[in-house]
Amino acid sequence: MKSLPATLRVIERGWLSSNHVVFADDDVTTVIDTGYVTEGDGTRRLIAEALKGRRLARIVNTHLHSDHAGGNALLQAEHGCEIWIPPGEAELVDAWDEERLSYRRTSQLCPRFQHDHVLQPGQAIELGGESWRVLPAAGHDHAMVMFWCERLGVLISADALWQKGFGVIFPELAGIPGFAEQAATLELIAQLEPRVVIPGHGAPFSEEDGAVSAALQAARSRIQWLSEDPRRNADNALKVLLAFKLLEARRLSLAELAQMVSSTFEGNDAMRALYPLEPEAIAAFMAQELERVGAARLEDGVLVAQDAA
Ligand SMILES: [Zn+2]
Repeated sequence: MKSLPATLRVIERGWLSSNHVVFADDDVTTVIDTGYVTEGDGTRRLIAEALKGRRLARIVNTHLHSDHAGGNALLQAEHGCEIWIPPGEAELVDAWDEERLSYRRTSQLCPRFQHDHVLQPGQAIELGGESWRVLPAAGHDHAMVMFWCERLGVLISADALWQKGFGVIFPELAGIPGFAEQAATLELIAQLEPRVVIPGHGAPFSEEDGAVSAALQAARSRIQWLSEDPRRNADNALKVLLAFKLLEARRLSLAELAQMVSSTFEGNDAMRALYPLEPEAIAAFMAQELERVGAARLEDGVLVAQDAA
């Protein structure tokens, strides 16, 4: 995108791995977010290319979901880089609490890493010779942050705003408010009036063709629609989690799906109340949903990933 500054490089990945934003020319070379662990070889190669032979000095995470922090450990092992994490997560990372870090409930993998520094909302960090403000972005994840460069009008929005939508409102699944927080995060973005948004997934988009305003407007309607019935967010969450697992495994039996559903529901009264069904029945229903949207097909009780044509 021509409206992006030359001091940063956006490496666009898919849905299993988040995008990486690389600042290769600073004294402190930095990458924002590191993708999912099973795509680690690609991450290593793409980031090495972007760094043009330089050593990576720092990883900065917008949040610690497995698709944003899954490459932390391998990049840290390779480059000996620092890792800066969002606020409120240091204790969980120190103790490697896989339950509260979301990896267990989502049946996702994230290799253990050590952190060096905790980001604070409001603080400014220097990236690519520019000052970027750390902004809170609760909703999808209570600890998530975004990065805003006022001078360039560029926002690194993580999973708070994509060109089409935003991340699942995960706190609500555990009975913790998240809809109002996401709505407030969208209002904060609107007030910034970004010229360009670099999302956590998908291509950057620009206000030059009205894409930022359009994305914000669609996101506002969506958060309103989701907040009217918590089951809508939960259905979406299950679909996203199963689709993610299917991208990783390529094939999943209905029994494996049911196992995944039980881990997601374990000890979660809010989810149980929304789905008064056995895990097998929920798995079968979700498999049908994935088939209906063309993400998978069911063959003799095995769900097989369907690549987009
Ligand atoms: Zn996320």
